[in-house]
Amino acid sequence: MKKDAILICTGCGKEFPLNRIHPRCARCNEPLEVAYGRLAQVEIPARGTMLERYRDFLPFSAPRPEISLGEGNTPLLKAGALAEELGMRSLFFKNETQNPTWSFKDRGTVTGLMHAVSLGITKIGTVSTGNMAVSVAAYGARAGLETYVLVSQGIAEEKIAPIAIHAPRLLTVDGDYGELYFRSLEVGQRRGIYFINSDVPFRVEGSKTIAFEICEQLGFQAPAYVVVPTSSGGNFRGIQKGFEELRRVGAIDRLPRMVAAQAAGCAPIAAAFGRGSLTVERVGEPRTIAHAIENPFPPSGNQVLRKLRAHGGLAVTVTDEEIIAAQGFMAGTGIFGQPEGAVPLAAVKKLRAENVLKPGDSVVCIVSGAGLKYTAALRLHRFEVRPVTMERLEEALVG
Ligand SMILES: *Cc1c(COP(=O)(O)O)cnc(C)c1O
Ligand SMILES: [Zn+2]
Repeated sequence: MKKDAILICTGCGKEFPLNRIHPRCARCNEPLEVAYGRLAQVEIPARGTMLERYRDFLPFSAPRPEISLGEGNTPLLKAGALAEELGMRSLFFKNETQNPTWSFKDRGTVTGLMHAVSLGITKIGTVSTGNMAVSVAAYGARAGLETYVLVSQGIAEEKIAPIAIHAPRLLTVDGDYGELYFRSLEVGQRRGIYFINSDVPFRVEGSKTIAFEICEQLGFQAPAYVVVPTSSGGNFRGIQKGFEELRRVGAIDRLPRMVAAQAAGCAPIAAAFGRGSLTVERVGEPRTIAHAIENPFPPSGNQVLRKLRAHGGLAVTVTDEEIIAAQGFMAGTGIFGQPEGAVPLAAVKKLRAENVLKPGDSVVCIVSGAGLKYTAALRLHRFEVRPVTMERLEEALVG
């Protein structure tokens, strides 16, 4: 790993060596992040894996492209007619559904895995409600590591098979999901298993590449807003950090305003933001169709709040009805995201209606995962399908 990078506490600034696995501060328990001594203004190579293209912004001295599954390099799609309907000139979707396991999680899995491999670790794990489990199971299989996946007992049946197909050691755990995050870190430390959980520092490093790609795709103009469906806060932190590092090297001259979008039924970050507080409080009974953003006590919640305050960000909530409507609305432009992936569009609709977003603002929605991940949500739509006999086909086509 690079010599001039360290881990630093996002809460109190305490420093730790880069080979530390435990993702939180020994003094204040806030999450750690990678800090770089030197970042040079670099030319980003046009080709190569995500690890190779952004190697100057990552802490690894030698990327291992053979562990890649082709993550990242996802399209940034202009919303077109849909933007017009919302009265906006430049609305974009960063389509993370096109990652190897159909969610942005692959970016952080490959960087987390790189860290594990650099330290000579042979056992990895994760705690997940679905997408991260699939991602870690796939990358663990590719790298030939012993892989442990802990999911909550209530996980939807259809989410199990895409994890199990990669044959990890898969456990459904009875108990509080938020607590499982911390428990897995403890047990992992004792048993030599590297838990690449939602917001660990090296996963955050992977999420940074979303910001890098957005800037490249917009010709090194930062958008005015980036809207992120937020649960643990790991992805939000990564995207924010990516823009900050690009500004540091002079590749962009201003940061976008980041919007943390949450489901109304589980919005600990938005609630704290609304109170003007810098500490999240646990949500008693989370309840939303968007299960991938249903963390009642986000481990990076406080850090997201600090960033929102420091850089003029926003936090908003949307209801399940608004999420499902946005899923349909977005599919109308050809992009089929899972409910969580439609949360940013639902937030944009709301912020536009409130005139927080102006017609000229350029806005990027992070479509975090693919629609086929959770087909149970599709039952909430009203689809129109007409049966017809062969004899009446022509009539039906013109009628
Ligand atoms: C994990 C996930 C999120 C939430 O990301 P965090 O880093 O936990 O905030 C949002 N959408 C999808 C599809 C996810 O898989
Ligand atoms: Zn600290």
